[in-house]
Amino acid sequence: MAHRKSLSKSRYLLGLQCPKALFLAVHSPELAGPVSASAQKSFDQGHAVGLEAQKRYPGGVLIGASHSHSKLALAETRAAIEAGAPAIFEATLAHKGVLVKVDVLEHAGGNDWNLVEVKSSTGVKQVHLHDVALQLWVLRGAGLKVKRAFVLHINNQCRHPHLEELFERVDVTAKVEAMLPAVGPEVAEFLELLQRETAPEVDIGPHCKDPYPCAYRAHCWGPKKIPSPSVFDIPGWTAQKKWAAYRAGAVSLDRLDRAGLSPAQRRMVEHSVSGKRYVNAKGIRQAMRDWEYPYSFLDFETLDHPIPKFMGVRAYEQLPFQWSCLVQRAPCAEFERHEYLHADATDPREPLARALVEALPEKGSVIAYNASFERGVLTSLAEEFPNYRKSLKGAAARLVDPYLVVRAHVYDPAFLGRLSVKAVAPALLGLGAGYKGMAVGEGAEAQLAYLEMIAPGIPPERRAELKRALLDYCRKDTEAMAGVVEWLSSVG
Ligand code: SF4
Repeated sequence: MAHRKSLSKSRYLLGLQCPKALFLAVHSPELAGPVSASAQKSFDQGHAVGLEAQKRYPGGVLIGASHSHSKLALAETRAAIEAGAPAIFEATLAHKGVLVKVDVLEHAGGNDWNLVEVKSSTGVKQVHLHDVALQLWVLRGAGLKVKRAFVLHINNQCRHPHLEELFERVDVTAKVEAMLPAVGPEVAEFLELLQRETAPEVDIGPHCKDPYPCAYRAHCWGPKKIPSPSVFDIPGWTAQKKWAAYRAGAVSLDRLDRAGLSPAQRRMVEHSVSGKRYVNAKGIRQAMRDWEYPYSFLDFETLDHPIPKFMGVRAYEQLPFQWSCLVQRAPCAEFERHEYLHADATDPREPLARALVEALPEKGSVIAYNASFERGVLTSLAEEFPNYRKSLKGAAARLVDPYLVVRAHVYDPAFLGRLSVKAVAPALLGLGAGYKGMAVGEGAEAQLAYLEMIAPGIPPERRAELKRALLDYCRKDTEAMAGVVEWLSSVG
C-alpha cells in the first residue's frame, strides 16, 4: 500500500496558491528552481525574527524535536501543555493528516491557549490569515481550547534601542474564525490530490507569483510556452494588461496590438521584433550635456534588517555597508579606484561616510545607475553625520543618472525588456561586461555574503574569500556603469 502523503502549513499554502505547485512539491521536487538569494534572505530574517519574538515569553518551552521526528515533537508538545508551560515555541500538533508547528502557543489561563504566528513582514497579509486559519483548525481538531489568534509582525517605526516596540500584535481571531469552514474541505481536497499519479492541469496566471514566486516557474514557463521576450517583459505595463494579452493569444510581441503603448514601450516592442538596436544620438547628447568632469561613478551596497542593531536605526532601514567609486578626471583619463567595505559587525555608517567624503572629488558629476537609491543613502548619511553633511549633500545634488539616458534614448533587443546595468552593460559592451561566474552577482547575494563575512567564528580563509567576492561585485557595478557611460558618450 502506498504511503499516505500528509500536509504541512507550507504545503497547504502552496495548494491554495496553485494545486499543481503542491503536487510538484511532493512528487517532483527536483523540478523546482534553485532557492534565490532573496528567498534565502527572507528565510534567514524570518528565523531571526522568530527567535527575537521568543524573548518576549519568559519561561517559554522550545519543542526541540525536528519535523523529521514528528512523533517526538507531538509528545513533547503534549507534555508541555499538560505541564501548563507559560508559552510553547514550535508547538507541534496534528489533525486529520495535517501537522503544524505553532510559532508561539501562549497559555491564556486554565485550559485556554492563544495561538501566535510571528511574521517578519510589516503588516498582516491575506496569506498569513490562511496560515493562522489552518493552525487554528488543527489545534481545535486536536482538542486544544484556543481562545484567540494573533499575528505578531514587525513595527517598521521601531528604532534601536527601543526594541520593546519591535512587534505589533494584531488580533485576527474574528477573521480566521470566518475562514474556518473552508479549511476542512480544502485539506481533504489537497490530501486527495496528493494521492493522484499525475499533476492537475493548471494554466499559468497571476498566481505564479502571488503571494510568493513559484519554484516551478522554469517548468511551467518554458520557452515553448512563453517566448523571450514576451508581453511579460514590457517595462511598466500592468499585470492586468499582460494577462489580458496572454489570454487573447498575443503573448508574442509580434502579435501584439501596439495601440495604447507608451513611446518607450512601443520602442521596446518594435526593436525586439525587428532585432535592430535603437539609438537616439541627439537625445543622448542633450541628456548628458550638463555632465561635468571629474566623473565619480558611485555604487552602494546596503542591508535592511528587521531587527535594528544600531542607535537610531529603524526596522528595515537600508544601511550601507559598502561602496565603490571610480573617478575619471578628464575624458579618456585613467580611472582612480576607491572602495570601502565595512569589515565587522559594528555600525558601518560613520567610517563608511568618512571614507566616502575623503574619496569623492568636490566637483563634477556623481554618476549612479538608478540614482534615486544612491540619493537616498547619501541624504540619510548626511542627516546622521553633521561633520560630513555638506560634502554628502553636495554629492547628492551633483548626481546624474545614466539609467534615465538609456531608458529614453537606447534600446537593444538583447536587453529583453530589462534596463538594469546588469542587462544593459553586456548588451552594449559585449559579454565580458556580464556578471556570470561571479561568486557574488546580485544585491541579495551581496547581503548574504556580508552577513556571513561578519558572523562570529567565520574561518579567516572564508572571510577573505567573501571580502574578495564583495569587493569584486561592487567594483563590477561601477565598472559596468562607467562602460555604459563611455559607450553613451561615444555615440551621443
Ligand atoms: S509556475 Fe504557476 S502554474 Fe506552474 S506550478 Fe507554479 S504557480 Fe502553478
